[in-house]
Amino acid sequence: MGKLVVGVSVVCTAAVVCGVAVLLMKRRMKNSGEWGKVEALLKDFEEKCATPMGKLKQVADAMTVEMHAGLASEGGSKLKMLISYVDNLPTGDEEGLFYALDLGGTNFRVMRVQLGGNEKRIVKHEVKEVSIPQNVMAGSSSEVLFDFIATALAEFVATEGDDFHLPPGRQRELGFTFSFPVKQLSIASGTLIKWTKGFSIEDVVGQDVVGELAKAMERAGLDVRVAALVNDTVGTLAGGRYNNPDVIAAVILGTGTNAAYVERAHAIPKWHGLLPKSGEMVINMEWGNFLSSHLPVTEYDQNLDVESLNPGEQIYEKMISGMYLGEILRRVLCRMAKEASLFGDYVPSKLKIPFILRTPDMAAMHHDESADLKVVGNKLKDILEVPNSTLKMRKIVVELCDIITSRGARLSAAGIVGILKKLGKDTLKDGENQRSVIAVDGALFERYTKFRNCLEETMKELLGDTADSIVIELSNDGSGVGAALLAASHSQYTDLEES
Ligand code: ADP
Ligand code: MG
Repeated sequence: MGKLVVGVSVVCTAAVVCGVAVLLMKRRMKNSGEWGKVEALLKDFEEKCATPMGKLKQVADAMTVEMHAGLASEGGSKLKMLISYVDNLPTGDEEGLFYALDLGGTNFRVMRVQLGGNEKRIVKHEVKEVSIPQNVMAGSSSEVLFDFIATALAEFVATEGDDFHLPPGRQRELGFTFSFPVKQLSIASGTLIKWTKGFSIEDVVGQDVVGELAKAMERAGLDVRVAALVNDTVGTLAGGRYNNPDVIAAVILGTGTNAAYVERAHAIPKWHGLLPKSGEMVINMEWGNFLSSHLPVTEYDQNLDVESLNPGEQIYEKMISGMYLGEILRRVLCRMAKEASLFGDYVPSKLKIPFILRTPDMAAMHHDESADLKVVGNKLKDILEVPNSTLKMRKIVVELCDIITSRGARLSAAGIVGILKKLGKDTLKDGENQRSVIAVDGALFERYTKFRNCLEETMKELLGDTADSIVIELSNDGSGVGAALLAASHSQYTDLEES
């Protein structure tokens, strides 16, 4: 009996060993058979993402056309082309103490700056970063949000030192950078069209955000006047112009993407107000919502969009900005794992979680210079729990990073060229030697070196000889200072000083 049992167990063991061997062999065969499939998927993706010069020129032209349409009439284009009411950008003469609030990026910031006029420029500058609790950002009320902001501002104002000077009898003034879609009613008022970027507080939509802030400041016993309401692109443009008079446009490449530029007021048919003295008006394009049949949209982009919080909207942004690049990569890897066994016979379960691959991690993998792609290996292990990636797998990941990021950077460059075309600055004119500077802010541009290099290279390719007169300038957090500067140029005391 005992013997029999042993015999059976030996047979069983042999069968198991045999079975495992067969399975391993099959697996190996499958793997070798599936590399062809991985490569086919890669090639297909690369082709669908391709942005040859001809296509980029079409994208740039489409951007110019949409700009015209959005300026011609309300709702004339996917590009809102919002009138910012900023018609006098900083000159460098601004003087005095001004505050700024920055809400709408990854952090909320309060700041004060002492401006010393043309000679002394920025005399002193202090910033405090405050994180907004999740329960204030979403599901709270207008009162809760604005009380939180006003309280933070009041605490900050209370720490104002002797280096800052407010002339006696004067009210403190503030520039408010509020980076959500706003229908501007004047330089210092505007209603919220909709929340984005994780914010959701129902009773603010449709309200004048400056009015809400003013009420909260009153409740907090704080006497500060909001002199300017802007978004981050307009703030960056103002900050950029202060540093460099050749700045004509600003682009944000961070969590999202957007652009603003200086337009000739008479070229804005939908503008029914008085023509500004300067003859110029800053336009907030809201270019993240740009759409064109020339955009190389893949099935991965379509699926990302359908499953997003704002389907059908912000398609250009979803192909370019920091919130989405890592997620596109995850989607391609997921399909390669499922259909072509990229990581072997299983699909890593972490790979199925949306947004688990963040763009900074993608950048770290893309920038990996080591021979065995160690960083890529570690990221795959730490984030996706793929313990033993082979060099071959890692190389596929890097190639995908390159395809996705190059497409985003090249499409951004085409967008900028679209703006230059609108302004007639994409070609050299006889006798003209004007430099044009684009101020760019956002961590995607600042920290993703390969993205930035690709954008700059593509600008050169697109512009040819004109490239020498176009400069892309990093404007690190220019939007906060920009808002304070706009508060200065829209100060209630400005006319007093001029007379
Ligand atoms: P915001 O756009 O929210 O005002 P930032 O300009 O700081 O803020 O941009 C943050 C975004 O930039 C993040 O969502 C992330 O996608 C991207 N980012 C941050 N660091 C890096 C990095 N090292 N490499 C690539 N992208 C990055
Ligand atoms: Mg920002």
